[in-house]
Amino acid sequence: MERTVAWNTYNKTELRKLETVSKEYRAFLDAGKTERECVTGAIALAKAAGYRDLKEIIAENGHLRAGDRVYADCMGKAIMLFIVGKKPMEKGFNIIGAHIDSPRMDLKQNPLYEDSGLAYLDTHYYGGIKKYQWVTIPLALHGVVAKKDGTVVNVVIGEDDSDPVVGISDLLIHLSAEQLQKKAAEAIGGEDLNVIIGGIPLKDEEKEPVKANMLKILKDKYGIEEEDFLSAEIEVVPAGKSRELGLDRSMIIGYGHDDRVCAFAQIKAMLDVRNTPEATCCCILADKEEIGSVGATGMHAKYFENTVAEIMNLTGEYSELKLRRALTNAHMLSCDVSAGFDPNFAGVFEKKNSAFLGQGVCFNKYTGARGKSGSNDANAEYMAKLRKWMDDAKVRYQTAELGKVDAGGGGTIAYICAEYGMEVIDSGVAVLSMHAPWEIISKADLYEAFKAYRAFLMKAE
Ligand code: MN
Ligand code: MN
Repeated sequence: MERTVAWNTYNKTELRKLETVSKEYRAFLDAGKTERECVTGAIALAKAAGYRDLKEIIAENGHLRAGDRVYADCMGKAIMLFIVGKKPMEKGFNIIGAHIDSPRMDLKQNPLYEDSGLAYLDTHYYGGIKKYQWVTIPLALHGVVAKKDGTVVNVVIGEDDSDPVVGISDLLIHLSAEQLQKKAAEAIGGEDLNVIIGGIPLKDEEKEPVKANMLKILKDKYGIEEEDFLSAEIEVVPAGKSRELGLDRSMIIGYGHDDRVCAFAQIKAMLDVRNTPEATCCCILADKEEIGSVGATGMHAKYFENTVAEIMNLTGEYSELKLRRALTNAHMLSCDVSAGFDPNFAGVFEKKNSAFLGQGVCFNKYTGARGKSGSNDANAEYMAKLRKWMDDAKVRYQTAELGKVDAGGGGTIAYICAEYGMEVIDSGVAVLSMHAPWEIISKADLYEAFKAYRAFLMKAE
């Protein structure tokens, strides 16, 4: 089958739009290195576009009408945006869903210690990472410290040019004879991911003076005591901003493209629906996908269903049965990144069914592993509709599997929403070096994802 290189199809106007979307995405990505920061970013964009907080509307016993725009935030870690459509939700609505958590290292609850004159923070990694990729690079600390008095301190260290960074050491090559014989998965162990944060001892302090000095700095600068780590969520992430990659600036290298590239394309598509759509539009940005969509803010939780019930209640449409019908009659794009074909590792791909950078948004009819296990396998009839919607809107798209049969595999939130009986398919952006500290995407694929999600929201019935 023929494949179109998206870059070959653009005129000057489209290239300008593509650059605008890329620039806006990079600003969103650089400001959103945690799920909480992404929610804050999404709320700011939504508010500026006239979205109101669902909680406030519920509190004032308000109503929703066609054309109204609302957002519903879930514990500051997941968020949904809605545009109320003209037809009853019972008849179905259009959902785009992505996740905003990314692989990283989380500080343990009791993280701070001193060893051999240096102070360290101990971590527990989150999501699937190749641990050897996370050593010897500048790292930043992002997160919150919730204190007993109810206040929450925001922490971002390592992003401003004048900030210090933190980091993890690796063994020098000169002494690595034994380490280099180990399997790559074992060369750096989970308990080796200890972050160096300081080396100056506090004067006149005899016991653990470097740790004492760190505690002094934390107290003076952030008002944080050691015990406060017990109620903190601090994520250790690559420090620094995303960059354009390639002499032609065709790509973006950045932390957390999985899955913030789809999350941003979704928000941008929602904000681009300017009129009142026929069907209600819903954008989900979920947390915890990288660890199985569990927990109160993961897709397995009930916030999505509950929020749909709230929206239907505010439009005067709610009944338990109508809610069930709305969910069953819905159409969804589960927007998550896919493996970009990498010629350096061609052996794990099957070329006819791989996603290539620059060939547009990617549809995965199924994902899964070992014979599609764990996959949502989208219906052929739904795929046929999507082909029409995408072609009508001149969206460049490709179809792909996540690698060769039996090479590995992966999953998304698709199968969870499919449990309602709605039509769901995976659709996203091809990524190189997925789950590495710095991942690579093509600007063209981001742009086509945005166009695809917009077309879906406006055309799907
Ligand atoms: Mn993902
Ligand atoms: Mn992932």
